[in-house]
Amino acid sequence: MEKNFAKIKNILDKTGCHCIVQQTRKTEFDTMEEKTFSVLLPAPAGLRENGEIFPLKKLTSFSVTETFSAAVPELKRVFAVLALNVEECSGNASLTVSEAALAPETWEMTIDANGIAVSAGDLNGAIYALTALGQMLFAATITGDPAAVLHGVTLHDEPRFARRGFLLDSARHFQSKQEIKKLLRVLALFRINSFHWHLVDGPGWRYSSGTAPLLDGRGTMSDGQYSREDIQEISAFAKTLGISIVPEVDVPGHSDFLLKHYPQFACDPQNPGSELCIGNPETMNFLKSMFTELMELFPDSPVIHLGGDEAAVEHWENCPECRAALQKKGLSDMRELENDFMVELSRFIVKSGRTPMVWGTCSGQLYPPDTMIQAWLDIREPLKIAPSGNKVIYSVCNSLYFDYPANLCEPWQSWMFSLDEKGVYMTDPHVIWADQVKDCIAGIEACLWTEMLPQHRIFAKLFPRIAAYCECAWSKPEKKQWASYFHRRELLEAAGYFDYVKGV
Ligand SMILES: [Zn+2]
Repeated sequence: MEKNFAKIKNILDKTGCHCIVQQTRKTEFDTMEEKTFSVLLPAPAGLRENGEIFPLKKLTSFSVTETFSAAVPELKRVFAVLALNVEECSGNASLTVSEAALAPETWEMTIDANGIAVSAGDLNGAIYALTALGQMLFAATITGDPAAVLHGVTLHDEPRFARRGFLLDSARHFQSKQEIKKLLRVLALFRINSFHWHLVDGPGWRYSSGTAPLLDGRGTMSDGQYSREDIQEISAFAKTLGISIVPEVDVPGHSDFLLKHYPQFACDPQNPGSELCIGNPETMNFLKSMFTELMELFPDSPVIHLGGDEAAVEHWENCPECRAALQKKGLSDMRELENDFMVELSRFIVKSGRTPMVWGTCSGQLYPPDTMIQAWLDIREPLKIAPSGNKVIYSVCNSLYFDYPANLCEPWQSWMFSLDEKGVYMTDPHVIWADQVKDCIAGIEACLWTEMLPQHRIFAKLFPRIAAYCECAWSKPEKKQWASYFHRRELLEAAGYFDYVKGV
């Protein structure tokens, strides 16, 4: 019985069913005296206290290597918000940020009596190091003490997951260009490097398309559309933040808006529904033109998302063209025809030099190994996908869907679970079958669907769960500890750091 209890406790600990189980594991944060580095969130990979102090009054100048100049505006913003008078200079400075032979996104920092020395392997590493420094500066200045200091420390940090994503659904409810840019900045401050942009869905089509000019960008929940210039501006801004955009056009389901304006691609043009006719060769030709245009719109996006989720088979089963295609290809059911259709589209993306990504295994079928699969239905999906060699992005809904209510006072829908900050924090893609799935998990992604979310609710849904998500995506599992995280999150909140992040 005791053995079984230990096993159950282990699973509960890992899956977030944590209410009845007190965690006892401690990290270095629990045993150290409160220092300015005690607020760091996410928890860094390596931290060594050196016993020195650096008085903030000595922080008078900074120099950042040219390669990382994109990180400077945010650094200046921290200085301005904290009323620190720090001048940019070249050469000797009390804060130096330089390039070093470190792995991507990796950074190091030493704070001692002489100053602050940061080195990073790339722009992302520099941005994340300066984010950590910003947190320590907020912690140091919280009391307004003119004799404030930074406590001496040597830090080394690197990500647990190479891909740390965030999906925003701009199809159901539209967000302005300014709101998207505001969100991107917040994502970068939480070390998210992949912005999955859900541009198309049943209720709306959000980018201006020369291939499908009848899609004028109006939607059933809100109006709005991104022009080519908007997308270029947003993409350029994302690049300065070290964020790659994954644009998504979701097919063959979720296509109501497309089919309303182009019913010739439906199985029944009189009753177009949500699914494209996958037996009509013209549908594939149209989509190839559509995705070619999408790839031109997003020249810097190595990954293109094709959707592939939640299509119903009824239209296909009643459609002569779909039935004929099924017979011609010698397939046994419409799920196989759907998979054949999606595999052809994913081959097209690969031939175009990009990596296709699709939603999970709704059809029960698998894709060629070079297609990334986003697992969202349940925690067992990666286990099913791993043997085929596909890389998995872990987005399991009951852990990472931010549209789910953080508390039950919020409006919510029947399909949603309750998902509070601690529920997010307990997320771990290696949850139970680590040996079988750890090599296939390429990353993790939180998703903000907007059926219930007009633009003004976006930020209310982000905080504070995004902080919990950040630590799940970035920090090594042995560094994660709920009580430590919660303490650091509260300290940062009290220091005004989250207001700064939100741009208040
Ligand atoms: Zn059809």
